[in-house]
Amino acid sequence: MDCLFCKIINKQIPAKSVYEDERVFAFNDINPQAPVHILILPKKHISTILDAGQEENELIGHMFQAANKIARDNGVAEKGFRLVMNCNRDAGQTVFHIHLHLLAGRGMHWPPG
Ligand code: 5GP
Ligand code: ZN
Repeated sequence: MDCLFCKIINKQIPAKSVYEDERVFAFNDINPQAPVHILILPKKHISTILDAGQEENELIGHMFQAANKIARDNGVAEKGFRLVMNCNRDAGQTVFHIHLHLLAGRGMHWPPG
C-alpha cells in the first residue's frame, strides 16, 4: 500500500519519533503549526475516522491515552493543548492514515480556521 504514514511507521521514510509502543507511533510534524506539533497515529492502517468500526474503539482510546502521556512528557499538559483529527476534504485531511494532531505551546484560537 502506498501510504506515507505506513512508510514512516516502517522506517522507510525518516521522522523525528517522540513516542512509540506496540500499537501507536508519534512523531514531529514536518510543517509545525505551533511550537509543539506532534502527530499520533495507529500502526494499523485506517484511512479516515469513518473507516474505524466498533472493533477499533480500544485502539482509538489508546491513541488518546498516548496523547495524554506525550502532552505530559513534553511539559504542555498543564498549560493546555489541542487534539485535532481532520476527516476528508472540508477539514483539510491530506494524509489518509488517521492521526491526531497534538498542538501546543501557544494560545489557540476558537473557532478554528
Ligand atoms: P492532515 O492534513 O492529513 O490532517 O495532516 C497531515 C500532516 O502530516 C500535516 O500537518 C503535514 O505537515 C504532515 N506531514 C506530511 N508529510 C509529512 C512527512 O513526510 N513527515 C512528517 N513528519 N509530517 C508530514
Ligand atoms: Zn497507512
